Amino acid sequence: MNAMINRKNTRPVRVGNLTIGGSDELFIQSMTTTKTHDVEATVAEIMRLEDAGCQIVRVACPDERAAYAIGEIKKRINIPLVVDIHFDYKLALIAIEQGADKIRINPGNIGRQAKVEAVVNAAKAKGIPIRIGVNAGSLEKKILEKYGYPTADGMVESALHHIKILEDLDFHDIIVSLKASDVNLAVEAYQKAAAAFDYPLHLGITESGTLFSGSIKSSAGLGTLLSAGIGNTMRVSLSADPVQEVKVARELLKIFGLSSNAATLISCPTCGRIEIDLITIANEIEEYISHIKAPLKVAVLGCAVNGPGEAREADIGIAGARGEGLLFMKGKTVRKVPEATMVEELKIEIDKLAEEYFEK
Ligand code: SF4
Repeated sequence: MNAMINRKNTRPVRVGNLTIGGSDELFIQSMTTTKTHDVEATVAEIMRLEDAGCQIVRVACPDERAAYAIGEIKKRINIPLVVDIHFDYKLALIAIEQGADKIRINPGNIGRQAKVEAVVNAAKAKGIPIRIGVNAGSLEKKILEKYGYPTADGMVESALHHIKILEDLDFHDIIVSLKASDVNLAVEAYQKAAAAFDYPLHLGITESGTLFSGSIKSSAGLGTLLSAGIGNTMRVSLSADPVQEVKVARELLKIFGLSSNAATLISCPTCGRIEIDLITIANEIEEYISHIKAPLKVAVLGCAVNGPGEAREADIGIAGARGEGLLFMKGKTVRKVPEATMVEELKIEIDKLAEEYFEK
């Protein structure tokens, strides 16, 4: 594998109180759906996102009202705020002055050199990075003419074009995304980008769809990249409440061992041996452990036939037995619990284990 294809080998870039790149850590990002100028609604949504585990949040900045709201929003939230600007350098300047922790703008789209320099100087003065957001759907005409249609090479060429504009102004606090709604195209573009430069990469499969289909599509694309060691921040884009984006992103990080502060559920698919209402219980426990900040593995199994043994790697779990449940830890049965109280008892034991984890 190319030595550069590794999230650790990327250049560290500060975004608020976080360092993106230069380590194995990967941060979850989401984007608000409120009108940014509506500070109350935007802050309320960001607080919900923070609560769900979002670590960086982006807001759209379509006009001056939105740009001037950044300062007030910043005061009331705890995670770094990224401001998304399309072409208007004046909005970028206002957002930077208002305290944005990062701006997303493509320097090649700003226009005259003096405008580009104004934005870059303002970002430099505040020590904030610029994210270059390449999108397969809006590649430069020149690149589309050269390749005929959006290709991974074309996307990387576009990224390098914007990067060069910033580097020529001695600006290196750069993060790059190369989004496409076509999974294979996005994956190839990110792989080529990771081999072509060492700036941190923000991952995303754009316009991926609804909660169900979009989660699958994003997981297929992002999973491929995560398993190859690519990506420093990540957004799962869904046509859904952005809290769901964060939940899906957290599950993905857990799967790839990139999250040390979240509990995982193991539950069986059920079969004719089932002895308890497993699906209801599994959903209830999944919701419960979504607030647990310790890396516990919790199992919920329909019967005790293969139960505790099958989930040996679980820290704790229950397996159904006629009219009752078996509470087990690390594959060993601890005690029997009546069906009526087994979910509550499991929750109490999960809390105890989480407390013990933090006392260690
Ligand atoms: Fe079936 Fe029991 Fe296995 Fe669940 S744990 S799939 S109910 S045998």
